[in-house]
Amino acid sequence: MKALYPGSFDPLTFGHLDLIKRGANLFDEVVVAVLTNPAKAPTFDLDTRITQITKAIEGLKGVSVISFEGLTVDCARANNTDLILRGLRAMSDFEYELQIAHTNRSLDTQIESVFLVTEAHHSFLSSSVVKEVARFGGETSHMVPEGVALDLRRLFN
Ligand code: ADP
Repeated sequence: MKALYPGSFDPLTFGHLDLIKRGANLFDEVVVAVLTNPAKAPTFDLDTRITQITKAIEGLKGVSVISFEGLTVDCARANNTDLILRGLRAMSDFEYELQIAHTNRSLDTQIESVFLVTEAHHSFLSSSVVKEVARFGGETSHMVPEGVALDLRRLFN
């Protein structure tokens, strides 16, 4: 089975990385898809996010990273993935994720959505929380891979 793990990853956190690793244990392949939304201005440009992820997944078997603009189901079809992998941190994620899963299913019934529950000690992590901490000079090395922590320091210092 081949999984597509789509997201903004702006930037990648240890929560995302945990999901990638657990996905890689479950499935033959995990394709991390950095979806670019032309309506949203990201903090880190696409190339930087791809570089951050490429470094973080080094040595992980069966994991690759791509970028994609448009519908997630089109991305899944184009990359021959069987399922869409997403993470659930709390009830607040559930409503949003359920809506997306139903939408994707209404567009293509062949592609299943699969959810993994976040590791408890990563459940507070989000890209926006990490950026908020970094903006005020806080330590982020326990929240994000080394390369990302460096990029955050560069951005906010
Ligand atoms: P999006 O803008 O598509 O929500 P994100 O990069 O914020 O993109 O998240 C991508 C996926 O990773 C989502 O399914 C989200 O629930 C999951 N995720 C985000 N943070 C964590 C975390 N700390 N632990 C596990 N999964 C997470």
